[in-house]
Amino acid sequence: MTMNCERGVARLMDYLEGVVPRAARERIESHVAGCARCRAFVVSYRATPLILRVATARKPTVDERRRLLAALSARRHGRES
Ligand SMILES: [Zn+2]
Repeated sequence: MTMNCERGVARLMDYLEGVVPRAARERIESHVAGCARCRAFVVSYRATPLILRVATARKPTVDERRRLLAALSARRHGRES
């Protein structure tokens, strides 16, 4: 049974998360190998977590932390009183 791209995208996401059984993996891999659309999807999907990791890697500055803590404690005090 050949896999079409519409069904493929959902399967492809499972495949990329590593939650598909071996038989399905092989079918997906052979489809992706011959399908430019799905290959592009795989490439962009794999690039996304990396982008997110880079974006969140920066630690907040001391000033940002202080403001965040102040905002949190202000909210807590506001609720208690
Ligand atoms: Zn495809």
